[in-house]
Order: sequence, then C-alpha cells, then structure tokens
Amino acid sequence: MLPLVLPLVLPLVRLQARERGTRVELGVTQPVQRLKAGRTMVEQVLLNLARTGSQARRRALAELTTRARSKSCICVRPSSWPSCCAGTRRHAPGRRCRCSSAAGPPGHPPRPQSSPMALGEFDLIQKYFTRPTPQAVLGVGDDCALLQPTAGMQWAISSDMLVEGRHFLSTVRPERLGHKALAVNLSDLAACGAKPVAFMLALALPRVDEPFLAGLAQGLFSLADAHGIGLVGGDTTAGPLNICITVFGEVPPGQALRRDGARAGDALWVSHPLHGGLGDARLALEAFRGHVSLGADDLEAVRAAMEQPQPRVALGLGLRGLASAAIDLSDGLVGDLGHVLHRSGVGAVIRLDALPIGPVLARQPRQQQWQCALAGGDDYELLFTAPPAATVAVQAAAAAAGVGVRRIGTVTDAPGLHLLDGQGLPVALQLQGFDHFAAGA
Ligand code: ADP
Ligand code: MG
Repeated sequence: MLPLVLPLVLPLVRLQARERGTRVELGVTQPVQRLKAGRTMVEQVLLNLARTGSQARRRALAELTTRARSKSCICVRPSSWPSCCAGTRRHAPGRRCRCSSAAGPPGHPPRPQSSPMALGEFDLIQKYFTRPTPQAVLGVGDDCALLQPTAGMQWAISSDMLVEGRHFLSTVRPERLGHKALAVNLSDLAACGAKPVAFMLALALPRVDEPFLAGLAQGLFSLADAHGIGLVGGDTTAGPLNICITVFGEVPPGQALRRDGARAGDALWVSHPLHGGLGDARLALEAFRGHVSLGADDLEAVRAAMEQPQPRVALGLGLRGLASAAIDLSDGLVGDLGHVLHRSGVGAVIRLDALPIGPVLARQPRQQQWQCALAGGDDYELLFTAPPAATVAVQAAAAAAGVGVRRIGTVTDAPGLHLLDGQGLPVALQLQGFDHFAAGA
C-alpha cells in the first residue's frame, strides 16, 4: 500500500532534531521506538517540515494541529507564536506541553484518566466488534474461531496491515478507514478469484475513542455486509494506531488465479471504475502533498478513490477459468506487473494510449498521467492476463461485475517490460512503484 506521510518528507529524510539534549539523525528507516518523549518519527518529521518554507509546510502544520488536538498537547508552532494550550503556557516548538495534566489543557479534549483502555478491552470488543456470524461455527468470544470449509473447497487466506502515518493520515474519517482496511484485504481475495467468507481484526489503539471506534466499525461492517462476510475474531491492544485484517475466502482446487500462469501471446488487461481510470489515488496523494492543485470537486473525487477503494471481488470470481494470471494493484501497475512477469518467466509490452485514465487525471499533463497510472499505488484494480480467445468472455465477466476492463498490452516471450506510444514506438519513462523498505520509500 501507498505510504502516505513519509513520502511527503522525502527530500528531508536527513533532518536533524534535538531530543532531550541528544542529537538524533532522522532517516526513513529509523525505528520509531528510538524517538522518545512520546513522539513518533512521523510527528518528528512533520515538525521539521512545519519549520521549513516548503510547499508541504501548510499541510504538515494542519496535520500536526489535528494530532495535537486529538491526542496530546504537543506544541506545533514556532516559538514566536502563541503556545498551543490556549495561552496558558509557552514552550519550545515540538516540546511536549507541560500543561498536559490528566484533565488536558484548555481547548483540548480530556485525556483518558487512567488506562488507555478506559472502556475495557472486553467491553470494547463486545460493543463494537461482536455480531452474529452465520459464516462461522464459533465466532468472537472463545480462544479460536471455528470455520467449516464448504466441502471440496480450498481456503484462500491473506493479511494486510494499515499503519497510521504510513498508510493513512490521522485526519481520515474513521468510516473510510474501516472501509479501506477491509477493502485492501478483499482485493487480495479478488486477485485470487476467491469468494470471501470471514475475517479477523487485530487492532492497536492509542486510547478508547468511542466516536472513532463507532465510525471504524460502521465502515468495516457496511463493506463486510455488502460481501456477506462475518468478523469471527481478532485481538485488541493499546498501542500506536494499527489495523491488521486477515481475510478467509474459498476457491475450488486448481481454480485460484495465481501470478505464475501468464503465457506469451496472452492479452494483458486491467480493470477500472466504469467512469474512471487508474492513478486517481496517487493524484489525491500528490494534491495532499501540495504538488498538484485541484478544485474542490476534483479533489473530493480522487480522494474517494484513495480512501474508499472498491475491491473487485465479483470480477475476480468471473475470471476463474478465464484469466491465466492475476494480481491486484496495490503498489503501482509497473511494479505489480513485474511480479507477474517474474513469476511467470515472461515479458510484456504496454500501449500507453490504452491506459484507462479518469476525467480528473486526464486534465493533468501527460507525464503526470503516466506517472500516476503506471506507478501510482493504491488502485486496488485487477491486472490480469488471458488468452486472446477469451476476450469476449472477459468482457462479459466485467459487464456482469459492473466494472470496466481495458486491454493494455500483450505478454511476450522476451523478458522485460516495454512501453509503447500510440504509434508503437518505445517510450522511456523513469517510474517507480512503492516498496516500503526501498531507500527513500
Ligand atoms: P485470548 O486472550 O484468548 O487471545 P482475547 O482475550 O484476546 O483472547 O479475545 C477474546 C475474544 O475476542 C477472542 O474470541 C478474540 O478472537 C476476540 N477479539 C479480540 N479482539 C477482537 C477484535 N478487534 N475484533 C473481533 N474480535 C476480537
Ligand atoms: Mg488475544
């Protein structure tokens, strides 16, 4: 998945900070635990950003102000500004406010009085995450969930984790966060052609924030209900906000769509929203980074693509027996296609003019369109290959699923990926998908 906050600060990853008299060098690979004084690396980097004159300064300040309001009293303003605690105290920028008593400073929401799990772990699970689960023999409440596989089916199982500051901003609406946490997991089942059955939820929460939990549960369960799946268990702990879901799906033996089945001569396809294209989530991120300026409606449209992806489960089921290989697009088309080519031992050509581009992205410069569509990340569309003879059946499966599909290229014997323009001439582009551990990710 697309890292949201750290790329914002890529040019600044060598920032220096003073922490309790110790000089700490900040790099993206630095473990958060090394930053003491109750501050995460993301907060520290945002604080540094807020002090720069860069374009992202305004957004960093907004983000920090939200964080300061919602959780503690970290002063985010330069020392020449009034202090963050409604003028009761002044303190150095970035220093934890000394006025953060149990009741919290004026203007800030009250902080939890005792344990960060004030409601109680089990009450919380009962109130927000326990619902009837006809899909399970035994659901939430025992040491294990019990699932009975349908006779003759195989389990398809996948996990995806969303980490605050890495995959989402603290300003995202909790309903959308709940939706996205499950959607990215269902997208993996879709890419395997598996039918979703149930899911588990492992949750780390900095505090019990009931409006947040109610919103999160609402987003989660409305998508779960749309797919007829149940939450059958999980784990809950105090800690930095982190949402890890594991999904369980079923697929007949031998029918799972895998990455290793592409053959030379197969057509290369990608799904897309009926009235949209690839790359909108990346365009939204660029807008949040301050690199692109979008009108309010356009920003809302691409923001929805970023925060509420629609997993292509029905299409994945329809492609069983048709597609020779498939993957879902989470890290960018070029990078994800690379996994299919590598696992299948083949190459591919892509016609750039065939890429599906939505109306908002289409108004950006051509280079930006290609960057977002080919290396954007967070699309959660399906990229798949199929023999040319399956073309009509593929289109019928997409129509039945209510999704667009576009043929964007061909699988080749020769290894490597070649990008061609409308005239069939090679185009050289500097593109990169997302790798969370790559230098500068
Ligand atoms: P144990 O200590 O045996 O691991 P827990 O006390 O952690 O069990 O959890 C009690 C029950 O609540 C278990 O059935 C577990 O699956 C379920 N559970 C815990 N957290 C969640 C959650 N966030 N969502 C759904 N079920 C949960
Ligand atoms: Mg447990």
